[in-house]
Amino acid sequence: VSRVPHGHRVLLKLSGEMFGGGKVGVDPDVVKGIAAQIADAVDDGVQVAIVVGGGNFFRGAELQNNGMDRARGDYMGMLGTVMNCLALQDFLEQRGVDTRVQTAITMGQVAEPYIPRRAARHLEKGRVVIFGAGAGMPYFTTDTVAAQRALEIGCDRLLMAKSGVDGVYESDPRKDPTARKYLTVTYRDALRLDVADPAAFSLCADNGLPIVVFGLGEKDGIARAIRGEKIGTIVAA
Ligand code: UDP
Repeated sequence: VSRVPHGHRVLLKLSGEMFGGGKVGVDPDVVKGIAAQIADAVDDGVQVAIVVGGGNFFRGAELQNNGMDRARGDYMGMLGTVMNCLALQDFLEQRGVDTRVQTAITMGQVAEPYIPRRAARHLEKGRVVIFGAGAGMPYFTTDTVAAQRALEIGCDRLLMAKSGVDGVYESDPRKDPTARKYLTVTYRDALRLDVADPAAFSLCADNGLPIVVFGLGEKDGIARAIRGEKIGTIVAA
């Protein structure tokens, strides 16, 4: 996979919860707003790959708690992410941004299969690439997939948008209003503070991939994070 100069290719992880605006399904206004910010940043020349979660539809672990087979529930979760990908693709293309969806579970009518070198080519041509269906494997999370895809296609930062918080705090700011936000934090501390799942962190830590944790609530947060502006908390060695 071709490498690009530092600061030019990023992977943005968006959770499914954002797409639903707190409800089940897709909130078009929310997705439109996210697409507008991505479009602005792409215009500035940054190559943007995206991994989308699916928590606004299904989470395998929750379905398991309700009596379903875990792996089957996880596949339902992965299929949910694809609907979010298509919604985001639609709003990006309405803004004139060429976008390709690549899924880890093949479904030729709606998306390309995941082909890393092809994804890199799309990015070089200024297209946004959205990765759906997670890793295609039960028992994984889209956070872990975000770290893996970022590494495989040569992104220099993993941008993790969070709803509810705008960075990594010394303790949960929703429970402790005096908690202070870190500007930078080590992988080890971020792991202890439960910022993302341990598998995602270990991939980033083992391979020196910095993570930017920032809030979706911040004005133009997504665009600013993509452009590399100082925002949120940087997780690094
Ligand atoms: N999932 C999976 N394998 C993957 C990615 C996702 O099994 O590689 C399933 C899992 O059930 C997960 C659901 O898809 O709960 C939705 O993904 P996730 O919870 O990561 O979405 P988010 O929390 O970002 O909305």
